[in-house]
Amino acid sequence: MTDRHLNVRLLVTCLLWCALTILSFAWNLHQASQHRRELALETARSFFEQILITRRWNARHGGVYVPVTDQTQPNPYLKVPNRDLRISDTLTLTLINPAFMTRQLSEIARQQHGIQFHITSLKPLRPENTPTDWGSGALQQFEQGVPETGEFVTVNGQSVYQYMAPLITEYPCLRCHEGQGYREDDIRGGISVTLPSVTPIPLFALAASHLAIALVGVLIILVMGQMLASSYRQLRQHAEIDALTGIPNRRFFNAHFIQEFRRRRRQPLSLILCDIDHFKTYNDQFGHPAGDRCLQLVAQTLRNSFQRSGDFCARYGGEEFVLVLPNTPLSGAVVLAEKIRQAVFELQIDHPGSATDVVTMSFGVATEAGVASDHEALIQQADQALYRAKRKGRNRVESV
Ligand code: GH3
Ligand code: MG
Ligand code: MG
Repeated sequence: MTDRHLNVRLLVTCLLWCALTILSFAWNLHQASQHRRELALETARSFFEQILITRRWNARHGGVYVPVTDQTQPNPYLKVPNRDLRISDTLTLTLINPAFMTRQLSEIARQQHGIQFHITSLKPLRPENTPTDWGSGALQQFEQGVPETGEFVTVNGQSVYQYMAPLITEYPCLRCHEGQGYREDDIRGGISVTLPSVTPIPLFALAASHLAIALVGVLIILVMGQMLASSYRQLRQHAEIDALTGIPNRRFFNAHFIQEFRRRRRQPLSLILCDIDHFKTYNDQFGHPAGDRCLQLVAQTLRNSFQRSGDFCARYGGEEFVLVLPNTPLSGAVVLAEKIRQAVFELQIDHPGSATDVVTMSFGVATEAGVASDHEALIQQADQALYRAKRKGRNRVESV
């Protein structure tokens, strides 16, 4: 997996996380608005029920008498005998029917809580009870069996909850309303309840908390992703570095040589295979730990021998190394191989079993300057050249 792949995966994970947070935000918003609607409906419904109970009480008494005051004047729409009772010079009582009582209760509720009740009817006795468009729509719905209606509407730029339920004609109501042609159980109209300030949806808190969750999540994904990427890079490095010599190993060579071979685009690509001469004897004489040190010195010399950034060396196996030289013709590769041969010789590592009494190396050089697509063939050519160098007496460079 390359760094680019890792970044794409991180990006996809971040996007998924953000999408999840947005989904959660939408869900919470939906829940909050549903809860708000239910709360408003319950509140309005219980106000309506309360009003209905009070009206029923009033109707069962055929209305109640209260003193006439500046605020409570006789109801001109109430056409019943004995509507007003003069008790004394200072006290006159007037009959308050359910409708008038509702208006008075509504006034108190409006002053104290801003809540408004309103009686409406499709056949109103009082012109003030003529329904609004919304009310008239609701009343028509009640005629078709809808038990109640409620919704948020904007009035003067403020969101209010408007509720309405039908006013059913009960037996005590007929005393006054029979004249209008109503019978028991008829829908006579409705009472609307308007709630001013229903707890608003905590939009800001919801948005802020989800934004924080999204940001923290993205941060954690990025930090963890970077940690994972760096561990992965370390792991990859360890898997591609030879533990003894510290230079790239055969696995690295396999992967990168094929890459270089494929992208050479008609430029020559040279390969140097080199092998320590009589190394078995060296090990036999000085022991394996000394052999290991010798391998480390040779690897160091190889690594220091080239300057071009595209060049790389690797431990091909045992005491055999390989150098890959992109954009390098055969002549240039032979010169470099000769330079390395000289450098190894100049290390002057004692080797009594060798013809020169010091550690030397043999080199096989091959170049692909054409359009061949077989990278194995290039390795084989370098190997054959190395074999020739060995046969010709070692400590030399041979090329194809
Ligand atoms: P030639 O000149 O033909 O290459 O002879 P040679 O003795 O170098 O080749 P041979 O293949 O017979 O022996 C290679 C030796 O390299 C055998 C093995 O002991 C030694 N060797 C391979 N890997 C290591 C290593 O990691 N450490 C040490 N100390 N020795 C190694
Ligand atoms: Mg050898
Ligand atoms: Mg060998």
